[in-house]
Amino acid sequence: MERTLIILKPDAVQRRLVGQIVSRFENKGLKVAGMRLMQISQELGERHYAEHKGKPFYPGLLKFMTSGPVVVMVIEGPEAIDICRKLMGTTFGMDAEPGTIRGDFSCTKTFNLVHGSDSPETAAFEIPLYFKDEDLVEYTLDDHRWNADGD
Ligand code: UDP
Ligand code: MG
Repeated sequence: MERTLIILKPDAVQRRLVGQIVSRFENKGLKVAGMRLMQISQELGERHYAEHKGKPFYPGLLKFMTSGPVVVMVIEGPEAIDICRKLMGTTFGMDAEPGTIRGDFSCTKTFNLVHGSDSPETAAFEIPLYFKDEDLVEYTLDDHRWNADGD
């Protein structure tokens, strides 16, 4: 079982795409373990995106990510990290395959609607930036057996 941090970025909220994007993850059979609307502070943005500090796009990325509300989510399921990255599509909207979130809704490099952790190590770093343990809910979905391989 894996957990991954997903952020519906400010463009997703401003473009009223939250419902459609959440549906992509739900339709796939993944489970939402935590979710809330918030605005990312400068300090939190700097901590989250520390790996990109010094890159040419870093100032614009921080400005974008702190510019308005975002929806932060923890999504859970077997191989959730890779599955979510596939649903998101490659980083740049203009390159992302149609059928993916970025491929269907974005044609820019920066305003690509969604963030997802890229490895188990990244998820373990990112999730606690946004969620306390007690904010994540453990429960079983009624259709669970249709969305997981049996033995
Ligand atoms: N980004 C950008 N220009 C670039 C590369 C990245 O504006 O040349 C932004 C884009 O919003 C991307 C984020 O920075 O989602 C983080 O980049 P990363 O390489 O980690 O891509 P991701 O993991 O989001 O696919
Ligand atoms: Mg990344």
